[in-house]
Amino acid sequence: MTELWRFASEGYLGELTREQAEKTAELEATLEAEVDGETIPFRMLRPAMANEPDRDKRERIDKARVELTEEHLNPLHAEGVHIVHAGVERLEAPNYADLYRRFGFRLDELADQCRDLLDSTEKLFEESADRLFRARVGIGLDEARRWDVIRTFRAPEWDPQFPAEKMLPALEATLSDMGVDLKSQENVELDVEQRPKKSPRAFCAPIEIPGRVVLVIQPMGGADDWRALFHEAGHTEHYANTSAGLSMEEKRLGDVAVTEGWAMLMQHLTDDPAWLTRRLDFPRPDEFEREGVTQLLYMVRRYSAKLLYEIEFHQADDPTKLSNRYVELLGDALKIEPAAADYLADIDSSFYVTGYLRSWAFEAQFRTHLRERFGSDWFTKREAGSLVRELWETGMSMTADEVLNEVAGQELEMDAVAQLTRGVLA
Ligand SMILES: [Zn+2]
Repeated sequence: MTELWRFASEGYLGELTREQAEKTAELEATLEAEVDGETIPFRMLRPAMANEPDRDKRERIDKARVELTEEHLNPLHAEGVHIVHAGVERLEAPNYADLYRRFGFRLDELADQCRDLLDSTEKLFEESADRLFRARVGIGLDEARRWDVIRTFRAPEWDPQFPAEKMLPALEATLSDMGVDLKSQENVELDVEQRPKKSPRAFCAPIEIPGRVVLVIQPMGGADDWRALFHEAGHTEHYANTSAGLSMEEKRLGDVAVTEGWAMLMQHLTDDPAWLTRRLDFPRPDEFEREGVTQLLYMVRRYSAKLLYEIEFHQADDPTKLSNRYVELLGDALKIEPAAADYLADIDSSFYVTGYLRSWAFEAQFRTHLRERFGSDWFTKREAGSLVRELWETGMSMTADEVLNEVAGQELEMDAVAQLTRGVLA
């Protein structure tokens, strides 16, 4: 019942802001920046920063991105925020955060857990991020600026270990170990063709569940690409294995932490030393795992701060005055200041931020359970594959908390992510 009420409310608010969303998408697709005499499309600015070894040039690219955001995109975002504000009043909720509390989102409980995680992992984060920045861009965390982050995570040094042509065979072999024959799945379509106008981002489109699920990727190689492919493959197999007999809401609505959790489980295989050794004959897999887990800790801390920020944002009388809080909260969590200009675009609608946060906890707990039950090479065990496939069949009919409780008898806790990262990094 609540699911359908949320679905209808989100549809209503989405309709009210459709014009702003369309204009934003169009601008993002057409805006261009001029950096050092070179024209770069807006959407390519982040990839350009990631691929730019010269630190000063990265700063100039970021400056161009911030200017375009302030001048062209933020007026539209602000318009959208005011429209949603008025729309929420018509839904008779005091504010957007309260609307989601009514939908059953336990925002405050999760925010408390995120505050604890930010405290308990602060030192670990400072030490491991410092090590990573020194290794990748030659400067410590205290000197690192926001344009160094994407470069550090890009880590082209690992590219030779993740060649484009081995991506699909590795995915097929991994799924085959789990009892899934990707090539014979008639309801799964893989769009892996290189096309110049294709979106550079991988995504999964569940057109019919489970009848037709499409995975789109433009394979370019590199660790990021492998992560993206395995992440989207997790969504794809979840939807493709969903039981056809479930209702629309049990297949499509529900708790997004479930489908994100399956995506994270597949994605994190590509950081797992046992998997890397088995699939790729990988040198220094432990070093790569530490990098991957440092990145995970960065993301989880970033999203923890985002949740704290988004709750304040959605409860404020005038949210367009919150750019300073955005800088404070995210800067505190990451020790690197974000751009104030991103305070509007860096908000996920529908509190999707909670879906990611809970999916990380779900994945950390579920993976730990799989390791304890089936061994560190659980992903090669047919029984582990059968368990995962049985759970995929339940689609979105259970919450992440319910799945975890049924399988492992545990409650979902953000502290599980802190423990997992400590186990690798401390
Ligand atoms: Zn996802």
